[in-house]
Amino acid sequence: MATRSRSSGAGLNVLVAVCAFVTVVLPAGIAVLVKAPQPPAGRELYVSLHVQSSGSVIRIPLEDYLVGVVAAEMPAAFEVEALKAQAVAARTYTLRRLSAAPGPADLPASHRGAVLCSDPGCCQAWKSREELLLQWGSADYVKNVVKVVQAVRSTAGLALKHGGELIDSVYHACCGGATEHASEVWGRSVPYLVAVRCVCAEYGFAQVHTVSVKRSDLLAMTAPGLLQGAVPAMSGGVQVLSTTATNRAKTLSVFGAVVKATDLRKALALRSTAMTVTNSGDTVHFTTVGYGHGVGMCQWGAHAYALRGWSFQQILAHYYPGATLERVLSQNLGQ
Ligand SMILES: [Zn+2]
Ligand SMILES: [Zn+2]
Repeated sequence: MATRSRSSGAGLNVLVAVCAFVTVVLPAGIAVLVKAPQPPAGRELYVSLHVQSSGSVIRIPLEDYLVGVVAAEMPAAFEVEALKAQAVAARTYTLRRLSAAPGPADLPASHRGAVLCSDPGCCQAWKSREELLLQWGSADYVKNVVKVVQAVRSTAGLALKHGGELIDSVYHACCGGATEHASEVWGRSVPYLVAVRCVCAEYGFAQVHTVSVKRSDLLAMTAPGLLQGAVPAMSGGVQVLSTTATNRAKTLSVFGAVVKATDLRKALALRSTAMTVTNSGDTVHFTTVGYGHGVGMCQWGAHAYALRGWSFQQILAHYYPGATLERVLSQNLGQ
């Protein structure tokens, strides 16, 4: 899978032209744990990327990759300070992955040998020029790509650290009013991934969404064993048993079986665990607020805070409390 994608490679020509980056290929990710990889002065880091849409693996400069990530992960219409915050979060995530890159045998098989992939459910979303042209249309492409490139370039080399190490800069679409503790989602506490207040709901950005499931279909929609002990004939149906400090569902009873809300969210493709459950006849309605796991930066919240006049530094300090913004790549990427 070391073949360069024709479409994506060509797709980056415009981005590269705008960025005017020096392009010197470096050896692939060398494990230095979570210290930012440092290319020789004047050279640029490259990332290997499995492009899900084409099935190919490409090798592109880090900062060009970040343009495709920011464009795919956040609407270009968002405030520029939110786009800058997204660029820093994406750069931090990428450098951490490059630094701690496992051997090829340890990478997910879906990566086909690449350190990163373009699947947002696995790594970070990324779109090629062709995909962005389709998404934005030719009339808006140049305007949008210039805005995203500026957001990436104006934060070039900046990443977030905590305790001297690159942070796990996770983010999500919309928290619904408060972000979530990492321990509630992944079972481990992280000092800078704690619940913080968010104004996304105040700005009307926290969408309410309902998934309705027939009681008779619930067992079949979950992984084998997830609802072990469930008795569909039970009249109790589905209830939230416990909630987290941010009022998200933590555990639920599904026909008598106790299940983690995070597992049920995955099984039923619910938008979030900030849910209320209604049992109505032979149907169970799951109504959620927001979108995503809720940990780290809330993208719609970042946009809301930027509308309020916050800088990208303030936005990042809010969502990753205790982390510091540092220039981790020393080369001048604009030269
Ligand atoms: Zn991946
Ligand atoms: Zn939010």
